[in-house]
Amino acid sequence: MRLRNITGSKDMIAESPLVIHEPEMTKGKWKNVFGNNHDLHIEIGMGKGKFLYTLAGKNPEINYIGIEKYSSVLLRALQKMEADPLPNLLFIRMDAEEITEVFDRGEVSRIYLNFSDPWPKDRHAKRRLPSREYLARYDQILKKDGILEFKTDNKELFEFALEELPFAGWEIVKKTFDLHHDMEMMEGNIMTEYEEKFSSKGNPICKYIIKR
Ligand code: SAM
Repeated sequence: MRLRNITGSKDMIAESPLVIHEPEMTKGKWKNVFGNNHDLHIEIGMGKGKFLYTLAGKNPEINYIGIEKYSSVLLRALQKMEADPLPNLLFIRMDAEEITEVFDRGEVSRIYLNFSDPWPKDRHAKRRLPSREYLARYDQILKKDGILEFKTDNKELFEFALEELPFAGWEIVKKTFDLHHDMEMMEGNIMTEYEEKFSSKGNPICKYIIKR
């Protein structure tokens, strides 16, 4: 994602009531933050957040947290949402590498990865969000029957993600190399910003749903 340096974005985020500022203090206590016992779904690398905002609006009985590494990107999401915030949607600015510091064992019911950065060089494979290293982290925070959903238009990244599954002890529930022409998997699909951009160029969208 191209980053523009937005002056003061860190300060603006620090003042936002929609952002959890010391998320590690909330590990194991996310139900208290939302004030209910609803399931918790998270998106890692949410970008400008349209996907999660739409989802949270449609499902008030589910709690959502959007995780984004960069302040300048998170700020864009906040600017759109602060005028009409949703009680079941909060944000964390963090690197997903630290995810096990923030969520307790089994605390998350579903994880979304959408159009994750491909990190094309082999030596950077560990940084890819669907890599076996990240799957091991997700394994720690996801509840027993929890699922992970991943979408991308990058076929190489998708094939890499599929190859990682047996090493990490995960298995496919459903998969497609052309989501927008798969009626079953397309049902209820919410387009992300990147999905709109790349599908409008004619790129097929790959998706899997996985479990352990
Ligand atoms: N999910 C959005 C979409 O589909 O429109 C944005 C996709 S964008 C290509 C990937 C996003 O993931 C960027 O905003 C990037 O900053 C974020 N990201 C990449 N690595 C991350 C990490 N380790 N932790 C948190 N966010 C990350």
